[in-house]
Amino acid sequence: MRCVAQLPNVGFFKPVGIPANALEGVRLSLEEVESMRLRDLEALEQEECAQQMRISRPTFHRILESARKKLADALINGKAIQIEGGNFELAQRLFRCSNDGHEWNVPFEAMAQKLPLSCPVCFSPNVQPMPLPPFASGRAHGRKFRGGRWQR
Ligand SMILES: [Zn+2]
Repeated sequence: MRCVAQLPNVGFFKPVGIPANALEGVRLSLEEVESMRLRDLEALEQEECAQQMRISRPTFHRILESARKKLADALINGKAIQIEGGNFELAQRLFRCSNDGHEWNVPFEAMAQKLPLSCPVCFSPNVQPMPLPPFASGRAHGRKFRGGRWQR
């Protein structure tokens, strides 16, 4: 299982001016996006990226190469990019305070011991986990929040 810390905000990119029926697409998994976020955006060493995603270095390298190849294909050949699914587990979850709108991330390790019961800013008990973007839910292997409890 690959560990993903941050989900992208947008799940679909399309070149301007090309009708949808004439458009080819590439499909990036969420762990492929995460590999580029860690290596290319955060500029971490490969070893560190692999540790964060809890996979071996060769596996990380393979995911990253696949991601970069798809991205280059889309940019150079003018294809749409669809971000969808994958085989991963979320490392943290975004919570939001209904009282003051404060948002913060809670790692699953911390949640396994104790759910956040109040906002760290205003101490209001009206806190909620933020819904996952539609392209990330369903096929994601992250734990689900159901009946007030986190489940696998
Ligand atoms: Zn608050």
